[in-house]
Amino acid sequence: MDKREALDEVNRAYRRSPQFGHLREEGSRFVAGFGPVDARVVVIGEAPGRQEDAERMPFVGRSGSVLDRMLGEYGGIGRDQCYVTNVVKYRPPGNRDPEPDEIAASKPYVGQEIVIVGAPIIVLVGRISFGMVFPGHSISSEHGQVREHKGRKYLPTYHPAVALYNRLMIEDLRKDFAALSRLLVEET
Ligand code: URA
Repeated sequence: MDKREALDEVNRAYRRSPQFGHLREEGSRFVAGFGPVDARVVVIGEAPGRQEDAERMPFVGRSGSVLDRMLGEYGGIGRDQCYVTNVVKYRPPGNRDPEPDEIAASKPYVGQEIVIVGAPIIVLVGRISFGMVFPGHSISSEHGQVREHKGRKYLPTYHPAVALYNRLMIEDLRKDFAALSRLLVEET
């Protein structure tokens, strides 16, 4: 089975899982990860928003524009070179935060995506994805600090949406994504 088929299988299983039946019943549409299957960088967000649900693509709304800019201008990598996915793959109603049981149910699927793509660098965008991989850690004190975990390098960053609400946070985001460009150089 090649990587694309393996990812299709993971997505099929997620779409069939009864653990997300309540989100499907609310009318949320499944939003799969997107990007090259041989990407060197996997970006993991929280959950689709309204725009992502409408287009069935991760990070295509306003947060996505900030993410694209951060990756390209500071991370030193185009969004089209990254595999971009979310922890929860259905939009939670009213854009509420994903519930702990939704995050726990999603974790094995995200783990499979990481292993299949095989990227050496994982960018954890926001406290939900950071907390999924590193429970009990605080994004506000640890963003920008690279951690090794199961043979990969993980970079936690603030979620790009914070820059939409608080312009002062943009400087933190820039610094976090600059750490990504250094990681990419080290990995070559
Ligand atoms: N925020 C996320 O975390 N993911 C998306 O896909 C869009 C917004």
